[in-house]
Amino acid sequence: MAKLFGTNGIRGKFGEDFTLDFVSDVCLSLASFFNKGPILVGYDGRESSPIIAKIVCSSINSVGIDCHITGLVPTPCLEYATKNLSYAGGIMITASHNPSEYNGIKPVFHDGVEISRKDELLVEDIFFKKNWISNNKFGHTKKEERAIETYINDIVSKVDPEKIRSQKFKVVLDLGNGAQAVTAPKLCQKLGCEIVTLNEEIDGTFPGRGPEPLPENLQDLSDKVMESKADFGVAFDGDGDRTIFCDNNGNILSGDKSALLLSKYILEKNPKSKIVTCLNSASTIEKIAEKNSSTVIRTKVGSVEVSREMALTNAIIGFEENGGFMYGLHNYVRDGAMTTALMLDLLANSTLNLSDEVATLPKTFTKKDKVQCTKEESSKIIDTLKKTNYRVDETDGVKIIFNESNWVMVRQSGTEPIIRIYAESDSQEKLDDLLTEYKEKIKSILCR
Ligand code: MG
Repeated sequence: MAKLFGTNGIRGKFGEDFTLDFVSDVCLSLASFFNKGPILVGYDGRESSPIIAKIVCSSINSVGIDCHITGLVPTPCLEYATKNLSYAGGIMITASHNPSEYNGIKPVFHDGVEISRKDELLVEDIFFKKNWISNNKFGHTKKEERAIETYINDIVSKVDPEKIRSQKFKVVLDLGNGAQAVTAPKLCQKLGCEIVTLNEEIDGTFPGRGPEPLPENLQDLSDKVMESKADFGVAFDGDGDRTIFCDNNGNILSGDKSALLLSKYILEKNPKSKIVTCLNSASTIEKIAEKNSSTVIRTKVGSVEVSREMALTNAIIGFEENGGFMYGLHNYVRDGAMTTALMLDLLANSTLNLSDEVATLPKTFTKKDKVQCTKEESSKIIDTLKKTNYRVDETDGVKIIFNESNWVMVRQSGTEPIIRIYAESDSQEKLDDLLTEYKEKIKSILCR
């Protein structure tokens, strides 16, 4: 059967493979899956998002189910409000960090987390069989005005606002023309921070540094942190669920680094906890967990896998190497504003600055790269790489393990026609060599 869902919801190019007809059929399927209302609908700052929102609501209303619409919000805000304001389900219209011509639909279960992989299959079955519910009464759409306030208030309640306020932190927010522009500045102001903003205007063409915060496009953030002598900087992706931090010396931290730091802080306060992370994040987390009598559960790559596992095991922390960080006491989803608040809380309770805090972490080096290729080509690459004498984990693509802290992982992207290479090593030199070696291997397999 053809697949509708990628790693992260249903995405496509608006007007090409993501047409209004397609959106309507997807939403009739989702309405049939939820089978009751009201459904909370929100969207990111893409130009096509408000148009798609009308189709989403109309389609759902046409089979008798009510919708409440939040307007433009970050994905984690929509997810939190779906849970906290007791909706039957949620729909977020977003293509996260994809280029501006893309858009997408992310269905949210009533527990505030993306629907499970099993439920995705149910929705796909309804979609392909056009097995839609019908109703002789129409549903209605009205506004939901409480989402942002509810979301921000809960985040503030999960940290020590008085302590943070007393520090009068200075923070640079690189909003990337994305959806955190409606929440992160408000949150930081509530926590008594002086804020400096970059790319703060919401613009679906992402004219600033693009919708994905990558070390190579965050030079402005680094410069601004140095120039304004800020305590740290933070950059969000298009829909505001991912965070990449910049320390007080202008160094951009990998998602792994900031996640390890936050995990260490949270676990010291909450020992004997569970942490969920994907197979491709740094092995250092096991060391930090062990020190705090905690356990690490590894999953396939993808935030849905991490979130669902967290919900199942009541884990306190979840993270991905790409800057997705989840705090279980707030919600089991990646959350840019919650993660920023946690970083403020960490610094307020430390005598060190962020750069010195990072220096306390066990040393490890991680990096990722990518090569353009089709799905068929990536299967061929993975099959070839599996034939090795080293230990291999085939849970997701192929992970070749040389020893505990030296490995390479290669997998097909679930959202783009590329194959991704991840690696960890105990020295920068070894890491660079490993990545070069495997990139060459992949290219030579492609040429065969
Ligand atoms: Mg995102």
